[in-house]
Parts: sequence; C-alpha cells; structure tokens
Amino acid sequence: MKNFGGFGLNSALAQSLEHMNYHTPTPIQAQAIPHALKGRDILGTAQTGTGKTAAFAIPLVEFLLNNPESSALVVSPTRELGKQILEIMRQLLGPKSAIKTAFIIGGDSMQKQFAQLRMQPRLVVGTPGRLNDHLERGSLSLGQTRFLVLDETDRMLDMGFVEQLERIFKHLPEQRQTLMFSATMPKNILKLSANYLNDPCRVAVGEVNVITRNIRQDVIRIEQGQKYKELVSQLQDRSGTVIVFVKTKYGADKMAKTLRRDGFTSEALHGDLRQGKRDRVMKDFREKSFRILIATDIAARGLDVPHIEHVINYDLPQVSEDYIHRMGRTARAGATGFALSFISPDDARKWHAIERLLNPSAEGERPANDSRPSKSDRSGKRRRFNSSDRSSNRPSNRNGQKKPFHRGKKKAA
Ligand code: AMP
Repeated sequence: MKNFGGFGLNSALAQSLEHMNYHTPTPIQAQAIPHALKGRDILGTAQTGTGKTAAFAIPLVEFLLNNPESSALVVSPTRELGKQILEIMRQLLGPKSAIKTAFIIGGDSMQKQFAQLRMQPRLVVGTPGRLNDHLERGSLSLGQTRFLVLDETDRMLDMGFVEQLERIFKHLPEQRQTLMFSATMPKNILKLSANYLNDPCRVAVGEVNVITRNIRQDVIRIEQGQKYKELVSQLQDRSGTVIVFVKTKYGADKMAKTLRRDGFTSEALHGDLRQGKRDRVMKDFREKSFRILIATDIAARGLDVPHIEHVINYDLPQVSEDYIHRMGRTARAGATGFALSFISPDDARKWHAIERLLNPSAEGERPANDSRPSKSDRSGKRRRFNSSDRSSNRPSNRNGQKKPFHRGKKKAA
C-alpha cells in the first residue's frame, strides 16, 4: 500500500504525520482519504482500532489548511471519544498551527467554552447536547462550517441523540462536505445518511458486525453469585491491563472498591463521575497507575488505550452491538488481546442475540431459550474459541466443547 506521500497532502500536515509515526495508511484510511480529499461525502463502516479517526481527521485538517474562510465540526457521542479525536486533530495541526480549536462537551465549564468560542475556532469538537446549548444561546455559530464529521453515529442514535443531531443540521450550511462513520450500519443510520449526505461514497473495513481483530475470546458459564470469586481468580491468572465491563454505575463503583480491598489496583469509570474525576481516572489508566478499570458501556465507548490486554464482560451488554465495541478496547493497533465473558443462566437471551449478531448465517440453528449451561459449564469451566479457525463465527456451543470462532482477517490498525 502506498504511503501518505501519495496523497499530496499539505507539507505541514505531512510533517505532522511523520512526527506521529504514521507512515502507511490503514485500510480505512487508504479507502476514505482519496475520496474525502476530492470533496466527496463519505459513509464509512469501521470498527474502533482500524484508524478511522485519522481517516476523517487527515482530510479535515487538509480542508482547513486549504480553505481559510471555512471551519469544521466533529460530533462525537461521548466526551472521552471527543477528547481522543481532538488530541489527534491537534497533533495533525501541529504545535505551531494558528488554527484554534474548541472542545464543547457536556459536564465541562461553560465559561471555559465561551472563552474558546470567542476566539473564533475553526475546528469545533463536541457532544450533541452541549453543542445545541451553545447554538441556542448564540455563542456558537456554524454558518462557515463546511466540513462535518459524525463519528460513531450508531452510538449517537443508541443514546437517543437523533433529535439533537437534526437540530444541529438546521444550523449548518447546505453547501458542505459530510463524513459519517459508524461501527454498524443499521437502517436508521442509512436513513439519516439519505437525509443529510450528498451521494456519499461508501467505504468499509472488514465485515460489518464481525470482530476483525486478533482477539482470543473465552466464555465461562457461571452462576451470578459465583462471578466475583471467578473474577478474582481470573485477575490473578492474567497479567497486564484489564478493563471489566459491568451493567451499572453503582456496580462499577462497588466493584472497584471491593477489588481494592482485595489487593488489586482498580478504579471505576462511568457517566456519573464529574468531568475532572473522569479525566483523572483516564489519565491514571493511560499511565498505568492502576491495572484494572471497571467501566460501564457509555463511559468506555471509543477508549483508545493501547496497553489494554484483557476485556472481561462481567455483565453482558444490554445492547448486542456493544459486545463488538467492548472487544474494540483491546488488540489496538495490531496488538493481541484477550476477551472473557461471564454468562449466567439469565443471560441466555442476550448471549443468543450476540451470537446472532456475530454470525447471522447461523440464524435459527438453535432457539433463544436453549443455551442453559451444562454441568461442566456451571463449575466455571472455561471454553475457548480458537482464533486460527475461521470456519465459524460462533463463540461457543452449549455442550461446552471447543467451537471454532471466526475473527475475520487479522489486521494491523
Ligand atoms: P482509531 O481506530 O482511530 O481509534 O485508531 C487506533 C489506533 O491506531 C490509534 O492508537 C491510532 O493512533 C493508531 N493509528 C491510526 N492510524 C495509523 C497509521 N496510519 N499508522 C500508525 N498508527 C495509526
């Protein structure tokens, strides 16, 4: 694959890519960037870890450099993802750039945001609710915004942001370029794209809804009451950084505390934490100040911490698609990752839905209520599905035998 030099980028941008050690475009970048540089709208399917941030960030920065009268807006579902996007943007703009940025997220100081907006930023990254807040107050104007990115659009719709997005669209000029990315491409995303994108070019990496990374996935069938004990034993057996997913914010706090009592270094990350605390937890996690992050789905969406080696689903996600997003926290940028899911008898339906999502062709092979654990499962026996066998996408079977699991193509991000 050609290197970034082949795109004919502005020399300041090319230099930033050098500094960032980005030499070869990832597949999503190779597909999206040439079209985006020609001004085309893009509808992109890409899981996290594929390099999708730079796939939109590079053409966005090139656009800002070439169009000094215009500005750009990136809408993200969560503050954490927004922060990562802004960080990549700032690196691409480089330390000497005169282009000002604003970070408009909920839970952060309005005063700080007013000050950023008064500086006439040409790049705004934000979450939908707070962006609308500023639009209504008149502190944010999108009249010159000719480049729009919607990232993790499926997540924004899952979070109920569709109306918020439609309100934002009303403030945007008709004449603009729009890039829309989503990990999955359900009907509501296609509908949104039909309304707001202009003859978009479709780009996709890997099969939709298939985990494309080098992740070894294990399953333990277990009674709810046995989970904590099993978690402790798993944490003792494993080395490296771990993210544990739980259902509730309260559960996250409680588990982090109990693990600390039991001798582990652990912190919780969820939507009820104040922004300052969330930032501190994330910073400490990135710097490996503690080993185990206990998170809810919303807080962990889009997290890019390259050293996460293990994802443990203590509770299965409420929404099947989140299984894929959770897996995306590990095996970043070509590394190997490990995933473990605890499946209690009450989880049969949820697990079946996840299996169906991962392998739609197996639809109907077994009924939703037919996944009770076998005796051996109940004893906490671990099952592994083999990453090298590509004959099936199913993570488990009900007899506790090894069952091959298809992980798609191994790809370096
Ligand atoms: P993303 O899918 O955007 O979250 O990116 C996943 C990881 O890959 C991040 O740590 C990026 O910094 C890294 N990355 C993205 N594009 C490239 C590239 N072309 N070369 C090297 N690393 C990259």
